[in-house]
Amino acid sequence: MEECIFCKIAKNEIPSKKIYEDNDVLAFLDINPANPGHTLIISKKHFEGIIDADVGVLSKMIQVSKTIAKTIKERLGSDGLNIMQNNGKHAGQLVSHIHFHIIPRFPNDKVVISYPRAQLSENDLNEIQKKLTSAKKEESEDYDFRF
Ligand code: 5GP
Ligand code: ZN
Repeated sequence: MEECIFCKIAKNEIPSKKIYEDNDVLAFLDINPANPGHTLIISKKHFEGIIDADVGVLSKMIQVSKTIAKTIKERLGSDGLNIMQNNGKHAGQLVSHIHFHIIPRFPNDKVVISYPRAQLSENDLNEIQKKLTSAKKEESEDYDFRF
């Protein structure tokens, strides 16, 4: 992954405004923030998204997200925050290296996070539930959802 910009940031080949770093995880300020304090949490190892990411590293990323969320709230006085993680270009992922966005929110800020809300029939919902649960039961022994 020679060209990956976040791999380069992880290796200090290009600079970033770091907030947190350990052996597996790095957090730094987004270069084009939605709000002041908008932070990106990345794995140091290259994974594209949540599906191929190592579960241990993902857990660490969540732990770091929690700590940074608390720090942002306390030190920047944010009123709330959004945590986002985009997977794939159709989901708005511009950089194909897994990352969580932490976006601090303030009263009357200009951030818009929006999606349409469909109304599905009971049948449609049942169909989708069936597809998701039957596939998973076959795939994974530690899947917890039972009928
Ligand atoms: P995505 O759309 O992939 O979920 O988000 C990628 C994010 O990375 C964007 O918010 C963008 O501003 C940020 N970004 C892209 N390149 C750089 C960079 O070189 N440095 C920093 N700090 N942020 C970057
Ligand atoms: Zn990468």
